[in-house]
Amino acid sequence: MTSSLQNATKAASAPGLTVGGRIITESATRLAVINPATAAPFIDVPQATPADLDAAVAVARVAAATWAATDLRDRQQHVLRLVDHVRTNIGELARLVTLEQGKPLAKAAGEIESGLRGLTHYAALDIPVEVIRDDDNERIEVHRTPVGVVGGITAWNYPLLLALWKIGPALVTGNPIIVKPSPLTPVATLRLGELAQDVLPEGVIQVLAGGDDLGRAISRHPGIQKISFTGSERAGTSIMSAAGSTLKRLTLELGGNDPGIVLDDVDVDVIAADLYWGGLSNCGQVCAGLKRLYVPARLAAQVEQALADVAATVRVGNGLDDGVDMGPIQNAAQLAKVRGYVDDARARGAEVYFQGEIPDGPGYFHPVTLVRNISDDVGLVAEEQFGPVLPILTYTDLDDVIARANNSPLALGASVWSPDEDRARAVAARLQAGTVWINQHPMLSPDVPFGGIKQSGLGVEQSLHGVLQYTDYRVVRIKR
Ligand code: NAD
Repeated sequence: MTSSLQNATKAASAPGLTVGGRIITESATRLAVINPATAAPFIDVPQATPADLDAAVAVARVAAATWAATDLRDRQQHVLRLVDHVRTNIGELARLVTLEQGKPLAKAAGEIESGLRGLTHYAALDIPVEVIRDDDNERIEVHRTPVGVVGGITAWNYPLLLALWKIGPALVTGNPIIVKPSPLTPVATLRLGELAQDVLPEGVIQVLAGGDDLGRAISRHPGIQKISFTGSERAGTSIMSAAGSTLKRLTLELGGNDPGIVLDDVDVDVIAADLYWGGLSNCGQVCAGLKRLYVPARLAAQVEQALADVAATVRVGNGLDDGVDMGPIQNAAQLAKVRGYVDDARARGAEVYFQGEIPDGPGYFHPVTLVRNISDDVGLVAEEQFGPVLPILTYTDLDDVIARANNSPLALGASVWSPDEDRARAVAARLQAGTVWINQHPMLSPDVPFGGIKQSGLGVEQSLHGVLQYTDYRVVRIKR
């Protein structure tokens, strides 16, 4: 079954780059895109040159003036047209996401629907004018103006969701956007760019595929005024330096190593499935996934068993097949990294007490792996592992476990688990994280700001707070 699907897709034409209203399908260099479920390339797409980037920026600068002058409600109507058009094509897009990213088809469709819910929310937002003073002497208003051309650079774990998170706010606030997806997952985003041309004015959304070099070129391009980036801490710091020379505005959504602290009054059976999926959704490749689970020593055996019981029900396989709960890791380098973390943990005395099944064959599959008897300084705990592996650590002292949870340069999310909301809140108040969830992990909504503190990022996405990061201030002071 897998090979016939793969061949069918190979025959399909690859989506092209969008530069203005043009779709560029021919290029001197191409990116071969691998299906992680088969470890074989299934399509190749054109790769943008520096000249393509210059051309896209030139078109975007022209589009910026008209788009910024378009009434907010008209811009929002355009965004809603994009929502409808993407939804009409959701089957094709979801299939491309599964082929390039690996996640099960229903989850790929869910990823897109989630992005569309975000766009729909932004399409109904007001961008208020703040009146600071209005008296006999003076009226003072704070307006929000578009920043200009936005560069949106995205990672491979949620290709379309991450792109839509940037497209919605950029468009609503009056900015054109050039999106550069990960070179590992460019296909669905390129196709989104093509679809956008049917419903949006020329140059408002353009999509260029390319590697890290293209990301670097976008970060330092003088015609781009803002970078909205989702990806690694390493690339985020590089972008921040490159963007400095032109003082670009930045939103950086970087990595996480989220702790979850289970308090001693939980009913383990009630929370087990939420704990499990909090850590291992999307094959553990979630920036704000639960990556270190701290449980009271006296509950450890019970939590370990309950998680193993959930894990035993999870079917791993090709995301195009029916009944699959979890796909492969997205790429070979990430698979090697996750294997390395598990091997290192074993060598340092940790116990892998549960390992699930994976299909035979060449795909980048990694079994669901639950690890215990592990200490905080082992790489699997201390670093962002980004795979279907959950280390379970124990504690006896609450102050101590809070200090351990906070002992990371990354601080995207964290969670506390207890039926006693006051107790959970008291712990939450002491955790360093952009979001602290109670009895869930992670939970994102388009009307709620999301972002990391410390080395996990700069600024927030989602909500009015995130949307306003695509604007500058313009103060108007009227003397009376
Ligand atoms: P990555 O940083 O390697 O790549 C992300 C994107 O940045 C790609 O498009 C890449 O080509 C580009 N890029 C790489 N180096 C660059 C540079 N120096 N200048 C400009 N662009 C550059 O990350 P990845 O491996 O694709 O994704 C995994 C990481 O993303 C994890 O750390 C994960 O936690 C993080 N992530 C964060 C969030 C969030 O919202 N906080 C969401 C998803 C993923």
